[in-house]
Amino acid sequence: MPSSSRYEISWADAVARKQKAKPIFDTVALIGVGLIGSSLARVMRREELAERIVGCARTRRTRSKCRELGLVDATFSSPRQAAKGADLIIICSPVSTYGGIGEAMAPSLKPGAIVTDVGSVKRAVIDALAPHIPDGVHLVPGHPVAGTEHSGPEAGFAELFEGRWSILTPAEGTNPTAVRSVTELWRRAGSRVEIMDADHHDLVLAVTSHLPHLIAYNIVGTAADLESVTESEVFKFSAGGFRDFTRIAASDPVMWRDVFLNNRDAVLEMLGRFNEDLSALQRAIRWGQGDALEDLFARTRAIRRGVIEAGQAEELGAEESSPKAGSRRPKKGRRAAPAKAAKARQSTSRSGR
Ligand code: NAP
Repeated sequence: MPSSSRYEISWADAVARKQKAKPIFDTVALIGVGLIGSSLARVMRREELAERIVGCARTRRTRSKCRELGLVDATFSSPRQAAKGADLIIICSPVSTYGGIGEAMAPSLKPGAIVTDVGSVKRAVIDALAPHIPDGVHLVPGHPVAGTEHSGPEAGFAELFEGRWSILTPAEGTNPTAVRSVTELWRRAGSRVEIMDADHHDLVLAVTSHLPHLIAYNIVGTAADLESVTESEVFKFSAGGFRDFTRIAASDPVMWRDVFLNNRDAVLEMLGRFNEDLSALQRAIRWGQGDALEDLFARTRAIRRGVIEAGQAEELGAEESSPKAGSRRPKKGRRAAPAKAAKARQSTSRSGR
């Protein structure tokens, strides 16, 4: 006979296990099953967050890949069919598709359903979606600040959101139970959740994500256009800093086109400030103002430390610490992560999107 405290512990464990296994949703519809949608499908499967998951994608290839990988229970080509009867609809397609998807699925949304999304900009997606949301359906926009430069259903992995932030931007007065359910989804996917105003989200992400991507696209384009430095020299000596930019600049062209077109004001505001600061640096280099350069570099080094302390980057990325990622050894006392999770952390540590 176990002691009472032992009995209590195993009873509590059983309850915890049962709670963990309790799905939050009956049917979840993923509209778009690429990197983000398929990562959500994987983590929802692993954590048993939904009784049934259905997926909608544009192409036959993606739909059959989703079935082949066991990501979803059924696939549809039409958002209207996919959303029919779902408790939660998560839009995971490029932002420019939202208006059409909202319009298409509106007639099949059931009363009490929750519509959320993962789009990297928030004001524009609210403007595109809100007019199509019927009374009695709850819109809880969201954005997981996690990603990699890869796309498609094969690129996803269940650990993508672990330790990352997910931002929700519900309008004032949104049904609190709906907000709680979406919060719970992200928590169970391993994320921390912050509620924010949509415009503020767009401003914050303009500086932390959108501008860095624009700079990466630009610098890689500049290097590609140079005539005095050959392409093979650029490839050969890329470890001098260029390599990290090429990874960011390999991000999905359609997704990023949509981000810049749909967060234009905030990105232009940040770009203006960036250009002013760059001009100041140019002047400091021209006039040999070493102190000004050193001051800035010391401040930015402290910011890197802050990012590490916030758990959003590791001390040394594998790419930075060793010439061959495969030869990296886990730190003493740390369990070696499965290859995919390690790859995920490497990628996301420098590219929350
Ligand atoms: P992705 O890998 O390219 O996948 C996009 C998915 O959307 C594909 O399944 C695609 O289907 C589907 N799709 C495209 N147009 C559609 C339409 N009209 N109707 C239904 N499905 C459609 O993209 P992703 O990287 O997962 O990005 C998806 C969303 O997540 C974007 O809004 C992005 O802003 C946001 N986000 C991305 C990241 C990141 O790092 N990638 C991070 C945070 C948030 P087909 O394959 O059949 O074309």
